[in-house]
Amino acid sequence: MAKTILIIEDEAKIVRTIRLYLEQGGYAVVWAEDGTQGLASFHHEKPTLVLLDLNLPGQLDGLDVCRTLRRESNVPVIMLTARTEETDRLIGLELGADDYITKPFSPREVVARVRAVLRRVELPEVSHQIVEAADIRADLQRHTVTVAGVPVTLTVNEFDLLVVFMRSPGQVYSRAQLLELTQGTTYEGYERTIDQHVKNLRQKIEPAPPEPRYILTVRGVGYKFTGE
Ligand code: CA
Repeated sequence: MAKTILIIEDEAKIVRTIRLYLEQGGYAVVWAEDGTQGLASFHHEKPTLVLLDLNLPGQLDGLDVCRTLRRESNVPVIMLTARTEETDRLIGLELGADDYITKPFSPREVVARVRAVLRRVELPEVSHQIVEAADIRADLQRHTVTVAGVPVTLTVNEFDLLVVFMRSPGQVYSRAQLLELTQGTTYEGYERTIDQHVKNLRQKIEPAPPEPRYILTVRGVGYKFTGE
């Protein structure tokens, strides 16, 4: 069965091109023109991934939609943004979007990003299905995490980042390395993207996020995981 991609975007011209390329790539495509319709389609179609325009007409803008999606599910979300919307983009990542693509983009790029995000959701078979460090346990196959036995819900990005850290406790990573290791490439390698994911991750796994005990900031370099 083809995987369904939900596009929430009001510009029909953009949708037409992306749709064509996605369908050629073997995906089924559902289109919603505004946020309200988008959420309805999300409930109805249960898409594998959502492409979400930030600037939507009507009651709900892209950020509202992203917030609602995150409250309800871990579906991968890629935001479509204009170059001028950097603040919104960062808020979007804060709300748990997995990636963003800046307009104008090529439809090829969209398909590549969709594939990249989905590849990370559906991990290939791995020899060690469980990664454990400190009192955190990550199940690579089920994509689940527990901290001191308590389940926490992470987005794809947060999960990937945590696993990179847990595999090498004590190792200091630069933001560029973390981008490369979690996204496989450094496109639009905004360091703040990693900062935001780390911040989100801390909110979810740290008992006291302002004074982290698992993921420490190494000033001027990046981050490290401490296994104690
Ligand atoms: Ca728009």
